[in-house]
Parts: sequence; C-alpha cells; structure tokens
Amino acid sequence: MRKYTRFVVESTRPHYILWGSVPCPPIPVGQKFNGLCRRSLGAQTADAKGSTSMGARSGRQYLDSLRDDRQIWIDGARVADVTKDRRFAAAARTMADLYDMQHDPALQERLTYASPTSGDRVGLSFIQPKSVDDLVRRRDMVKTWMDATCGMFGRSPDFMNIMVTGFACAAQAFGGADKKYSQNISNYYLYCRENDVAMTHTLVNPQVDRSKSVEKQDKDLAAKIVKETDAGIVIRGARMVSTLCAYSHDLLVMPSTYLANSEEARPYAFGFAVAVNAPGFRFICRPSVIHSEAASPMDYPLAARLDETDAMVIFDDVLVPWERVFIHRDPEMCNGLYNRTGAMPQIMHQFTTKNLAKAEFMMGLAFAIARATKIDAHLHVQGMLAELIQFTEFARACLRASEADAKPNAWGFMTPAAMPLWTVRMMFPKMFIRMCEIIQTLGAGGLVAVPSYAELSGPMRADVETYFQAANADARQRIKLFRLAFDAAVSSFSGRQQLYERYYSGDPVRLAGTLYEIYDKAPYIDHITDMLDHLEARHVQQ
Ligand SMILES: Cc1cc2nc3c(=O)[nH]c(=O)nc-3n(C[C@H](O)[C@H](O)[C@H](O)COP(=O)(O)OP(=O)(O)OC[C@H]3O[C@@H](n4cnc5c(N)ncnc54)[C@H](O)[C@@H]3O)c2cc1C
Repeated sequence: MRKYTRFVVESTRPHYILWGSVPCPPIPVGQKFNGLCRRSLGAQTADAKGSTSMGARSGRQYLDSLRDDRQIWIDGARVADVTKDRRFAAAARTMADLYDMQHDPALQERLTYASPTSGDRVGLSFIQPKSVDDLVRRRDMVKTWMDATCGMFGRSPDFMNIMVTGFACAAQAFGGADKKYSQNISNYYLYCRENDVAMTHTLVNPQVDRSKSVEKQDKDLAAKIVKETDAGIVIRGARMVSTLCAYSHDLLVMPSTYLANSEEARPYAFGFAVAVNAPGFRFICRPSVIHSEAASPMDYPLAARLDETDAMVIFDDVLVPWERVFIHRDPEMCNGLYNRTGAMPQIMHQFTTKNLAKAEFMMGLAFAIARATKIDAHLHVQGMLAELIQFTEFARACLRASEADAKPNAWGFMTPAAMPLWTVRMMFPKMFIRMCEIIQTLGAGGLVAVPSYAELSGPMRADVETYFQAANADARQRIKLFRLAFDAAVSSFSGRQQLYERYYSGDPVRLAGTLYEIYDKAPYIDHITDMLDHLEARHVQQ
C-alpha cells in the first residue's frame, strides 16, 4: 500500500494581493534579495530572450521585462507601456505581486524548488512530478497563488507552466520519426523553467464559419503556415483567445479543434512558441472591465486588480524559429496530442485547484453576507449556504481523489487520475453560475443600495454611518463587503468570470462528447448484461 505524507487539501491562510498592496521596492543590481541575486537589467532582458537563466523572477524584474515594444492594442490605440497604462497597470502589478511572493521567506519553500539543472530556486509549478507528494506540493503552490487572487486570475502563470511541463513530461510523444520536435519541447520547457517565462496561449481558430472545417473556410482567416525558411516557419492569420497576452513573455500556440488528415489541413497543423514582441505580432484586446471612473478602488475590488485581459492574436508573417516548433504540418499529431501526452490531467489538476480557491472565496463571501444581516437564521438561506459548502467540498474531494489514484505516465512522471478532474471540469461552470446567483439572492437589494466606499469620507458621512449599518456590521464593513459581493456576482467583471468558467477549458458541448467517448463504459454495460443474463437464467429454471 502506498503511503502519502501530506494528503489533506488544506485551507491555506491566504496572502491577498487585491488593491492596496505594497509597491515592489527597486532591488539594486547585484544585491541579494531573499537569497536570490538580481542580475543586471541588460542580462535580464537577455534572459527573457533565452540566453542566460535567472531562476524565479521578482516582481520588479517581471515589470521591467514587459517594456519590450509588444503590440498591445485596445480601444482603438496602441498601448505604450502596459505597466503604466490605466487599463493594464493594475493587473501587471498583480502579476508582479505573485512573482514577489516567490521571494517571501515565509513562502519561498512553498512556491519554489531547487532546479535539478541550475540549482537556482525556480517556480514549483514547473516541477516534473515523480511522486504523489510532488503533486501535493504543486497543488499547494497553485492554491497559494489562487488564494491570493480569490481564484479569479485563472491564467496566472502556473496554468501555462503546468501545461508546458505536462508536454515536456511526454516529450517523446512529439515528433514521430523526427525527434527534433521532442528535443524542442524539452528545451523549451527548460528555458521557461530557468527563466520563469510567463506564457499566454491560443488553441482556437477565429469564429468565422463554424459549419465548415478550417481548411474549407471561404474567408481564410485562421493562422496557418505560409512558408518555411532556413530560419523557421512563417505564420499568417489569427487565433483566439489570448488571455494574459499583455502580461506574458511568450505565446504558446497549440492545437485543440479536430483537423482533417488531408493535404489541405496540413498548414493549420502546428504547435509552437514565440515571443509576444516578435515582429509582425499584434494583440487586439477587448475593452477593460476596470472602472477607471470609480471614486474608490474599493467599489470594484476585484476588477481593480484582476482583469487578465483577453485578445485576438494577429500573425502578420510572424517567423517562428525552428527550435520553437513542436508540431509541424502534422494533423495526426495535433488530433492525438492530449491523449498521447497525457498533459490534460496535469492541467486539470491546476484548474481544479483554482476552482477550489474560487469556491472557498464565494462561500466565505456568502457566509459573511448572511451573517451581516442575520439572514442565516432562515432555513432556506441555510440551504443555499449548504449548497456552497457542497460545491467547495466536491472540488476538494475530487482534487484529493485525483492525487490518491495518480499513476506514473509511460515515462515515469506522476499523473493525477483524470476522471475526478474531468468531473469538476464539467460541473464547475454550472456551479460557479449558481454561486453568483446565490450571492445575488442573499445580497438582494442591498447589493445596489450600498453606496461608493467614498461616501464614508464625504459630506454624507453621518447619514452613511447611520443608515448603512447592519445587525452584525458597521457601515464601513457593510459597504466593503457588499461592494465586493457586487463585483464578484453582478458586475461586468463577474460576467466575464462566468463566461470564462463556461468556456476557458473548451466548449462544454464538445467536452461532454469527449468525456462520453473516453469513459470506460464496458464494465458497466457488462454488469447490466450479466445481471440480465443471470435473471433470465433464474427465470428459465423456475
Ligand atoms: C474569457 C475567456 C478566456 C479564454 N481564454 C483562452 C485562452 O487564453 N487561450 C485559448 O486558447 N482559448 C481561450 N478561450 C477560448 C476557449 O478555448 C473557447 O471559447 C472555447 O474553446 C469554445 O470555442 P469558441 O469560443 O470558438 O466557441 P464556438 O466554437 O464558436 O462555439 C460557439 C457555440 O456554437 C456551438 N458550436 C460551434 N461549433 C460547433 C461544433 N462544431 N459542434 C458543436 N457545437 C458547435 C458551441 O457548442 C457553442 O455553443 C477563452 C474563452 C473565454 C470565454
């Protein structure tokens, strides 16, 4: 029997980084910062391009690395500097806070590990798990970042770190006869791990005509290979949705939709990574959900720090160097990628942890609202709060089951059991929408009757302090709590979160089809058949 040393999915004491966190102090070049030495800015820029390694990034190093001439477009204009722009600066700061947590002495052991190659501390989401204990450690790392962002910053770098690590744990599945592609994915993983590269990704072709496969479209807008050169492949067209593009160093482009195994489909059959500031790249973003006109960031405490940004990516003859190509004109490899590599359970392990953090956050919020106005005295309110407990404990139990039933993949890397994670993947979108509905139901008119946080220090202060109290909260507590609840369950930020939960891991309709396809149905059908045969045999004997 296997022994698990650290098995409990604990509620960690969160390290919140919502609006109001301390700005990152500049670290002098060469000075030790929590045991890590910051390299010169020049060397750091080179790091982001792949020449030397740096280990786990600090927030300052991260912010500096974003000033790289990337083409981020929003509201009809190009963004000069995402770290300063009013629509992007706050989320850039959030990313920097996450990176800074890696250097907090109290969290360093929890968030980083010693690189097996350089010995530097590197992000724990890059660990290639060899045991259940490694999975538990990695989950604890993800949970710490997710608790800091209430589970509402779903594409924090751990998501893509775990995806790339998952591919690298099955590197030999890449390339078929041409092993350079398996070497490329291994090298890319090492580069990302040693340089703490933040990645965005695009798996989906633009919505043009979903009634036809990509190679049969009248308007040929999807990204495709237009030529090969000695230096690499050249890509033209578009892909969606690039969440986190404004805050990433690299874009990973991988397949997801089914491709015909035909000559015409081959230009669309690729997998590669490329720097977001590569010549010819343009990211056209949706408008921000930040309320820049709000009197106080406390009015929209989530939107104020956690707008990840989503964008369409335009490739205007972008050159991808051969060493960053992982799949080349290979529909068969594209279609079988996730089955062949087994990377999906690793990714699902990350986002189930995100779901647990999000469920705990929404549950805590609902408890606090119910306590504030004493509606938790009513039985049907307790019923709704019990639903939130069930959602939370369901996610926790599935996460634990995936670790308990983990098995090594063909190359010896520990892989969480897929089915408990698939179950959360399919059910969580509905759960999250119900969580929002419960918070709306509990908060009711109070969600729109509380004023801006700014009223607490305005001319109406006396009225506000008197009339916005609740049985168990003074006006300040009540206003803060209900503004947070509004942002979590009612605002445009919440609408985007609900859409995210519906779709970020794929179309639920086609995912349900896949789940049905891959589920091992035979034992259950056999059980029914055996039972009927048995009954029939008894009936005949009588
Ligand atoms: C907030 C948000 C963030 C995202 N971030 C990322 C990201 O960072 N990276 C990334 O790669 N992707 C991201 N996605 C995109 C996500 O992968 C897709 O939304 C998802 O795969 C569904 O594809 P689609 O949006 O093109 O919908 P469509 O495929 O256009 O589907 C729209 C509707 O039509 C139906 N439909 C369309 N075609 C078919 C078909 N062939 N068979 C059956 N039904 C069909 C669907 O069921 C659905 O109801 C994000 C999405 C959202 C909403």
